[in-house]
Amino acid sequence: MAYIAMARKWRPNSFQDMVGQEHIAKTIENAITGGRLHHAFLFTGTRGVGKTTSARILARTLNCTGGNPLHPCGECPSCKDIAGGNPMDVIEIDAASNTGVDNIRDLLEQTQYTPMIGKYKVFVIDEVHMLSKGAFNALLKTLEEPPPHVIFIFATTEVNKVPQTILSRVQRFDFKRLTSKQIISRLHYICEQEGIKTDPEALGILAEKADGSMRDALTFFDQAYAFTGNDMSAEAVHSVLGIPPNELFFSLLESIANHDIKGCFEVVDKACSIGVEFAPLLDGFAKFIRNRLYIRVGGITAEELNISDALYGKLQSCAANLSNGDLLRVAKILTDLQGSLRHSTNPRLLVESSLARMAWLDHLTDLRKALAAINDTTSASEQSKKKVTESAVPSPTLKTPPQVTQDPLETIAPTPAPENAMEVLNASFAIDFDLNEGPTSKNDFAIEFGNQENNIFETGPRYTRYDICNAWPEIIRECFSQEVGFFATSLSGSSLDHGDFQANPFPLKVVYRAALAWGYEQMTKNKDYQDRLINILEDLLQTKVALQYTLIAPQPGEKLVESRPVSAWESDLENELILGTLVEMFQTELISTRKLHRSNTATESCEDEPE
Ligand SMILES: [Zn+2]
Repeated sequence: MAYIAMARKWRPNSFQDMVGQEHIAKTIENAITGGRLHHAFLFTGTRGVGKTTSARILARTLNCTGGNPLHPCGECPSCKDIAGGNPMDVIEIDAASNTGVDNIRDLLEQTQYTPMIGKYKVFVIDEVHMLSKGAFNALLKTLEEPPPHVIFIFATTEVNKVPQTILSRVQRFDFKRLTSKQIISRLHYICEQEGIKTDPEALGILAEKADGSMRDALTFFDQAYAFTGNDMSAEAVHSVLGIPPNELFFSLLESIANHDIKGCFEVVDKACSIGVEFAPLLDGFAKFIRNRLYIRVGGITAEELNISDALYGKLQSCAANLSNGDLLRVAKILTDLQGSLRHSTNPRLLVESSLARMAWLDHLTDLRKALAAINDTTSASEQSKKKVTESAVPSPTLKTPPQVTQDPLETIAPTPAPENAMEVLNASFAIDFDLNEGPTSKNDFAIEFGNQENNIFETGPRYTRYDICNAWPEIIRECFSQEVGFFATSLSGSSLDHGDFQANPFPLKVVYRAALAWGYEQMTKNKDYQDRLINILEDLLQTKVALQYTLIAPQPGEKLVESRPVSAWESDLENELILGTLVEMFQTELISTRKLHRSNTATESCEDEPE
């Protein structure tokens, strides 16, 4: 018997079988039963979520003569015709390869003829946004007044490229990306039906790799099944899909936390020996770091992170000696590495040297004393400010920056420490504090210098309105790796909810649970943070946004986190008295803040302060 790919064999045949798109199935079913069927539909959503499958189901449902208006019977001539692969009443074209006016004219000509078997002739145009302007115009007339037996179904991954004239003449349905849970549950069902022995971890790996696409999930499932047969273990799935096992990430993070560069290199060796390529290794490690950070910040469950309870537990105790700031810096080095890997002629060296930088994190410049010197007397910082304002560039007579730079800066910047302030122009620095440990001494700081070349977010819409809520954890993660600590942490643990998709400005709601009331308070009392968040969201969506904040009342038994007291030095930081001066002196920008672990290892660099 010929082998039928799982993706084909288990393709849904009715709206009931569709996973994750219940909202669409319900609306269409209501329209069919209520006799209010539109003649043109637009199915939009990311790839592999069931748009063309739904188009075929709709065609079957409308044409089935089996008697049940919602369940194609599979037996009648029309059902058999459509299932046969080359149906007479369903005409599918791919606009990606049929973009021109002539293609559309050919298609429109066929609308004149009545259907051969069923009641409707269904025209499916896939990737409709690829049509030329002329082709869209040719469509308009028929779309306005189609023959009664004609149904149009347009599918697209990029609805923003579909002209408004078309959008206003179709009924639009937005397909959601599938959650890992939905994919796992469908795969589990298929395994049961097929008698395939597997474990939740194996299906979890497939679902994660599929990234919201059911079609991809089934393709990977097929790939794994071809390799493992009826006994599909997590290990086999890892190996056949080239996905690095989690043990590699645990070893890597532990090695970084223990400043064990040799250990880092051994992980690279291991990855190479089991055939894992660098790109998936780094992608996987980035996800791993993200999960570690989220767990550290607290209030996020294993389910919300789409990981197993066992992995969650292991992550909680992994690399406990790394601070939040360290993790953020690892994340920063990692994203830089991912960006430059593609263009590298020697990827292995690049990966290893970046891992070495991560493992050297503790060798950060300790500038507490330098900062303390400025912090101690307001007059000192006022003076510095004055001097900076007096001249356009930092005055060479200002001795603080030069001494600041005599520490082992080369661990952060590859160039030798500059000799005077002029040479650190355009450098960025961070003063980091650790959220988990509470502030101690007022002067307990570290400052990190480095170049921050990338803007926080690229221009142009990066998400659709329909994606933005799903992408929220990712957006928070970016804020964590790129933004000032207070602002980013006030977002942690929140979720994003949306109002009417058509409304302008687009209504969005940041939702906090009572356990994370701290973030809510920070956000609602701080106009600057609210503006900043609106800017970020509007940049990502390229549309006006109306933002609200909601705090969900505590569940019975939920443990509340008290508002974190803000120490004197933190409020100083907030007011940017000291930072403002430093930023001006170095003509640089603030990246993040962190409290130092060390009690007193200040250098003597500031003994001869001019002030
Ligand atoms: Zn039928």
